[in-house]
Amino acid sequence: MSFPSTLIDQHGRVVRDLRISVTPRCNFRCTYCDPLGMGHKDPLGTVSVHDVANVVEAAVGLGMTSVRFTGGEPLLRKELPEMIAHAKGAGVEDIAITTNATLLKRRLPELLDAGLGRVNISLDAVDEDVFKRATGGGGSKPVWESIEELLARGLHPVKLNAVVMRGVNDSEITKLAALTETLPLHVRFIEYMHLNNADSEQYQKSFVPGREIRALVEEKFGNLETVPTDPSAPARLFKVSGWQGAVGFINPVSEPFCGACSRMRLTSDAKLRPCLLNDREFDLRPALLHPEPVAAIQETFLVAAHRKVASGITTPTQRPRTMVAIGG
Ligand code: SAM
Ligand code: SF4
Repeated sequence: MSFPSTLIDQHGRVVRDLRISVTPRCNFRCTYCDPLGMGHKDPLGTVSVHDVANVVEAAVGLGMTSVRFTGGEPLLRKELPEMIAHAKGAGVEDIAITTNATLLKRRLPELLDAGLGRVNISLDAVDEDVFKRATGGGGSKPVWESIEELLARGLHPVKLNAVVMRGVNDSEITKLAALTETLPLHVRFIEYMHLNNADSEQYQKSFVPGREIRALVEEKFGNLETVPTDPSAPARLFKVSGWQGAVGFINPVSEPFCGACSRMRLTSDAKLRPCLLNDREFDLRPALLHPEPVAAIQETFLVAAHRKVASGITTPTQRPRTMVAIGG
């Protein structure tokens, strides 16, 4: 069977970006993601280094250019540098991780040596008590040490992600934005999505629309200037005139960007998930066990792309998996 050199979904969108969840485990219990916490071991069936290498090779063969390793907390997988090195060797142009950065500083040299290009860090609060509450007991000191290390190594831009929840960390919005005055960071505020099976009334109460977040920033620091960005990127970027960094708004609920979606996900238990906000998944296990796994995986990619929905469900709904198990 011959395969196309570009993966196009049934709605004509080019699928370029693969997000790979390398573990559902995490050392935090963020309120919006995994309030109940996960076990201590990778469950049976977690993708191996070999599985990930085959999936990445298949994706590159279909023209995908960017791979982001996530989780759970990806740095809990000791083989992460190996996975990155395989992706580099397979020709992936853009290799990134999304991490809570508690373990990043120590592991950064091996990750960069392996070919890591970019890092996104979750940071929901500047105030230590609020940080603790948002992350279910985490501490921000190692996170800040990691951010400083990235800045010292000149890995610009360092992107910080903050999911805003009313009554949890909305008091931190202007403090987080203020970080961009003297530091070349991109602080991106993300609308809280219903991906943690929260009670729907509680969810509605906690949800803060991006326009309200922006209004708070502008009320405190004045009008924001637009920073030109790739229109297919989920974040709209702005800056306060003269400041070093930028603030971004990612509004998947109030301003869905599904029309420009270029993503596909691999869950840590080897399912291809075409849409974060739709529960349809395609089991890759048979393909991974096939004598010619790369071609078999590519066939599954084509089937999954053909079934990728036009837009995800943002209204509260009970989901078989929460965010920590899907891969953010
Ligand atoms: N542990 C890593 C981290 O926290 O960066 C990677 C996994 S985490 C699931 C990836 C991203 O998903 C984070 O930026 C997190 O803020 C975001 N996220 C998790 N649950 C979310 C939710 N309910 N709504 C919006 N974003 C969410
Ligand atoms: Fe863990 Fe990241 Fe989810 Fe927080 S957002 S619980 S750090 S996976």
